[in-house]
Amino acid sequence: MKYRQTLLLDSSYLPKNVIDSGRAFVIFMKGNCEIVKHYPKKFGLVRKDVDIYKPAVIRIKEYINIDYHSVPLNRDNIFKRDNHECVYCGRRDLDKKSLTIDHVIPQSHGGPNTWENLVTACKKCNGEKSNLTLLEYGKAIPSPKRPHYLMLMKKVDYIPNEWKDYLFF
Ligand SMILES: [Zn+2]
Repeated sequence: MKYRQTLLLDSSYLPKNVIDSGRAFVIFMKGNCEIVKHYPKKFGLVRKDVDIYKPAVIRIKEYINIDYHSVPLNRDNIFKRDNHECVYCGRRDLDKKSLTIDHVIPQSHGGPNTWENLVTACKKCNGEKSNLTLLEYGKAIPSPKRPHYLMLMKKVDYIPNEWKDYLFF
């Protein structure tokens, strides 16, 4: 669901957690963080004198040293990184059966199985693209990246645009 969750960065702008946006607001009101980015939506608060946009990304004052978790490269995680949308036509209403994994550089052209070369595509686009290179296919796509493990947490069901500067390497 949109605007429900907030990405928490530590003082060095490294992503450390995903929390409820209400909780992020409380941390902000206590003076313990700054709001780095907000959503285009306000809290529906009873007090009309408090008028604040929901925080999308907050930055706390401490540096938290947590070990880096690596992310398994598999179908479900690629779908999740791409928000279950076809990167070529942008279709969103795809069920799992209509989703495919496409090699940006086809395997037949030596394209590897890496985060940077695998994307979510609908069956139709994958079929059209087939063994064509992107140049031959003639459609631009955003370059796929290795995701941060926070993106793939169970409770995160949607990756807001506001988070993307912080979650990709
Ligand atoms: Zn498509």
